[in-house]
Amino acid sequence: MEVYLHIPFCRSKCAYCALHSFAGRERLIAPYVAALQQEIRCVGAGQRVDTVYFGGGTPSLLAPAQVGALLETCAAAFSLADGAEITMEAHPATVDAAYLRDVRAAGVNRLSFGVESGHDDTLRRMGRTHTVAQAQQAVAWARAAGFDNVGVDLIYGLPGDTRARWRSTLARALAWSPDHVSAYALAVEPGTPLARRVAAGQERVGDGDLMAALYALAGAALAEAGLQQYELSNWARPGKACRHNVSVWRGGGVLWPGRGRARVRGGGPLCGGRRPGNVPGPDARRAAGRARPLARRGRGAPPQRARDDGRGDVPRPAPHGGGCRRAGSRRALAAGCGRCSAQSWRNSSRSACWSSTATRCA
Ligand code: SF4
Repeated sequence: MEVYLHIPFCRSKCAYCALHSFAGRERLIAPYVAALQQEIRCVGAGQRVDTVYFGGGTPSLLAPAQVGALLETCAAAFSLADGAEITMEAHPATVDAAYLRDVRAAGVNRLSFGVESGHDDTLRRMGRTHTVAQAQQAVAWARAAGFDNVGVDLIYGLPGDTRARWRSTLARALAWSPDHVSAYALAVEPGTPLARRVAAGQERVGDGDLMAALYALAGAALAEAGLQQYELSNWARPGKACRHNVSVWRGGGVLWPGRGRARVRGGGPLCGGRRPGNVPGPDARRAAGRARPLARRGRGAPPQRARDDGRGDVPRPAPHGGGCRRAGSRRALAAGCGRCSAQSWRNSSRSACWSSTATRCA
């Protein structure tokens, strides 16, 4: 069993990003973490867990103490395997040497840095808030902090990418001796600033032939550097493939506490082993505490897309949905109505308990 913890906060939205993340909502990180802990307690039934993955968003916006608290909650709720892989996605502009030492001490043992490009002008055009030098420094700090499993994520086909520029991106990243490289093809997602710029003729992205050539270049350069391809977009040194992702791709059971994911497979007794889906729910107007119970969504629905500016939704902690059967659980919450153990919000303006299930339990 794997656990994915979604941290849907970013300092700003990148031009190409349609992921479920929110900018300018850092003040909600602490209550989100608290609610995430509650959901972990709810879904945890002592299942053996081999990997925990902090994904985002920007998980490195969490304080090390919050990372540690979430891992402690996981350790209490699940049976964490010895040598469990604990991954954190990290933004180079959000870390320093002390931070990386502290999250290493908290239990994170694998880092995945969002580097994306080896060119500062491209990073600026895409709204990335770090430089190539910062990314290089972050990888060096990670090594100094004791991480022996460090990955970099790259995107090919960004505006302005040519074969030569992509080669130099690869060369720069490989010079840092990463254990793992993810190279993803740029997708121009509808509704993003990049899509609007492309539609307006302000940006040009690579056509299929160029994308194929860049992909082939990546394969050749990464293989030459000793990284083995183990998935369409992922290469790793021997023994450094991401165990979490490998399990997910093989259809392993995954628990997805957190805001932006959709379902649980093999989740044990919770909701009959499946979760219909988290819902982004309230818009900004409701974000001030007048949120409504979550609407229904279909089983297996994809993650929700944030508004382009990333500010449209409050990053509500992701509750489970679909009729939790754990009535009478010892984990009934103080703020709950007492009739069920579903997660509920202490500060809801509603007079009665409303739970994370699709319908109120009362
Ligand atoms: S790509 Fe940018 S906006 Fe999207 S999740 Fe990563 S840091 Fe946040």
